[in-house]
Amino acid sequence: MANTNSAAASGTSSAEYDAIIIGSGFGGLYALHRLRDEMGLSVRAFDGAGGVGGTWWYNRYPGARVDAPSAPFYAYTFSKELVDEWEWTETQSAGPDVLAYLEHFAERFDLLSDIQFETWVTDATYDEATQRWMIETDQGGRLSTRFLICATGALFVAHKPDYPGIDDFAGECHHTGRWPHEPVSFAGKRVGVIGTGSSGIQSIPEIAKEAAHVTVFQRTAQYALPARNRPLTTEERTRYREDWENLRESMNRRGGWPFKTSRLQASDYTPEERHERYELLWEEGGIHLAINSYRGVLVDEELNEEVSEFVRSKIRAIVRDPETARKLLPDYYFGTKRLILDNGYFETYNRDNVTLVDLREDPIEAFTPSSVRTKLGEHPIDMLVLATGFDAVSGSMLKLNPKGRGGVSLKEKWDTRFDTYLGMTIAGYPNLFMIHGPGSPGVLFTMPLGGERQTAWIESCIRHLDDARLGAMEPTEEAEASWDHEISALAERTLYPRTDSWYTGANIPGKPRQFLAHLRGSQYFERLTEVAEGGFEGFVFEKKR
Ligand SMILES: Cc1cc2nc3c(=O)[nH]c(=O)nc-3n(C[C@H](O)[C@H](O)[C@H](O)COP(=O)(O)OP(=O)(O)OC[C@H]3O[C@@H](n4cnc5c(N)ncnc54)[C@H](O)[C@@H]3O)c2cc1C
Repeated sequence: MANTNSAAASGTSSAEYDAIIIGSGFGGLYALHRLRDEMGLSVRAFDGAGGVGGTWWYNRYPGARVDAPSAPFYAYTFSKELVDEWEWTETQSAGPDVLAYLEHFAERFDLLSDIQFETWVTDATYDEATQRWMIETDQGGRLSTRFLICATGALFVAHKPDYPGIDDFAGECHHTGRWPHEPVSFAGKRVGVIGTGSSGIQSIPEIAKEAAHVTVFQRTAQYALPARNRPLTTEERTRYREDWENLRESMNRRGGWPFKTSRLQASDYTPEERHERYELLWEEGGIHLAINSYRGVLVDEELNEEVSEFVRSKIRAIVRDPETARKLLPDYYFGTKRLILDNGYFETYNRDNVTLVDLREDPIEAFTPSSVRTKLGEHPIDMLVLATGFDAVSGSMLKLNPKGRGGVSLKEKWDTRFDTYLGMTIAGYPNLFMIHGPGSPGVLFTMPLGGERQTAWIESCIRHLDDARLGAMEPTEEAEASWDHEISALAERTLYPRTDSWYTGANIPGKPRQFLAHLRGSQYFERLTEVAEGGFEGFVFEKKR
């Protein structure tokens, strides 16, 4: 592979690369390693953040943790040496540990010299004549690249809700997804937290330990399952290392983790037997109640209601004040929003210094410099924590807003639907690849492994182009339409689309409603292989100019 890098790596110089990568989280770092070290391409990566880590660089709020099966599954899988040398300490890795791991990864594979930090890519425009992407950065950099790899993050664009007068609040205000790098003290403060998704549920118990008072403004009551986080034992570490190849294989075959999904038929068991099983899985903790009870929990309304009611009964049993417990009871279909693993969330409401305001019954009407005013009262606060999530999956690509053929911007192309093919490519945007884009499994598969596999597919595309002396590839609009149909059809068979969630874009006012993830992770990755091995059906190619 020719190395076309012709200029210094400085952001202010003009330079040509084989590949430019945007983002240095799990996805971007691995792409840099693979394209540069395995393929021999000239590659440059950019990140607006001040260091590697992506999600884990930004989300430094107290209690931040991986929220799905974690160590050793939430990590790179491709290097056995890396698996052997990195010591995960807990079953549910903490944010700082994941960040330390990614910093280690970047150093170990000597990636830092090819990443430019504190540099936002502000423009990316495809030049049809040269078949290259022209890139501009906010540091004055002008670069060109044959391949543009967008590892810009599915949970990157922090969403600040537009409550009337929110900017009138004059105290400290922090979004969990943009948490300060300096320590934040809650001591002696009255803290208001808006939002009870993963970030809220992780941070509220930690904030409550230190703050004078915490008022939780709940938008949606949530199902949260006990994480049962604990230290990993030496035996567990030895076992997963010895069995690594099998473990990796079963992660690939299943949902990105090695756990089996239950094949048991609920109708073969009595309600009492089913209840016993739910109890066991609740005690086991983590995602087991969600994946390992009975077949079809996410499809069968009646079965879903049974599991939902089981979790509600747990909430009633944990929370002592019946009125608070009532407000905490979720009413959507269990499992159809991002599953949340908690460490003492419901127990936190038994503390004297925690109050719950249910915004469905008592909505926010205004903010003053020192309080939140709801329909039924005024809540004085010194600090506001916004645990209000992200413009998920599509937000970071729309922020980048690349311009493809004919100068058409992605904002125009995605005005009403987030059309992609395979969740990685877009018609009219040749040689642009997304990692975890709309229409890929993204957040519904373990993302480090998903990113590895998508990068392997990008490699096969680049090799195909070079072997056949082709200059550019892009999907057809027909391929996009049929992919869209496939994603929607998979989702329609389940209860997912019936719930307002960030999977469907419902958390962002005005965002087009569309289920944004491919629901069958392992089949999706098989499909990528089939497309590559079968001659890239659905793509059109251009000769090299
Ligand atoms: C609290 C929390 C818990 C999570 N738990 C899990 C879990 O258990 N399992 C799981 O699989 N996933 C989990 N995730 C999802 C997590 O986002 C991914 O696992 C993973 O870290 C994403 O990596 P990435 O490289 O794709 O994107 P990111 O880590 O989001 O990195 C994107 C990077 O791109 C940069 N960037 C974006 N646009 C530009 C631009 N225009 N110019 C320059 N730089 C740009 C950003 O600064 C950022 O650093 C969790 C997320 C959160 C917030």
